[in-house]
Amino acid sequence: MICPRCGADDDKVIDSRAAEDGYVVRRRRVCSACEHRYTTYERVERRRRLVVVKKDNARVPFDRSNILRGLQAACGKRPISEEVKEGIVDAIEAEIHQEFDREVPSREIGERVAAQLRAVDDIAYIRYASEYHSFRTIEEFVEEVTDLKGRTRDAEGQDVLFDE
Ligand SMILES: [Zn+2]
Repeated sequence: MICPRCGADDDKVIDSRAAEDGYVVRRRRVCSACEHRYTTYERVERRRRLVVVKKDNARVPFDRSNILRGLQAACGKRPISEEVKEGIVDAIEAEIHQEFDREVPSREIGERVAAQLRAVDDIAYIRYASEYHSFRTIEEFVEEVTDLKGRTRDAEGQDVLFDE
């Protein structure tokens, strides 16, 4: 610890005791250079557990296996490797922990998963987005399918997903 008086980096702890709720330790220190006595507080770094708020306002602890299960259900027998699914869950988990402090609406998670799936597989995406109500209206759904249809045609030169 740097001495607040003389700036020397040489001290001895002369007393340690728990403070507050036991997650904090208060230490009395003495500077070996100038004998100044001062106090430091050491705090346990607690990683807050994120809570997911569901549509009915129920709160459940964030659990990545729930995301993975939803993904697996949507992917069914689509040719999507487990690595890709795990990768999607990793990305969502990192994003959620970065953007949300304590609580995250389940809808936020659902929309992110849907967005990731959209880049991977059209069918799995539509299944997932329908299941998790990412579409607010039937018009929105139709618009999305039309959009995907255009994308498929662009990519393949013909319509492989939908018969006309
Ligand atoms: Zn000092």
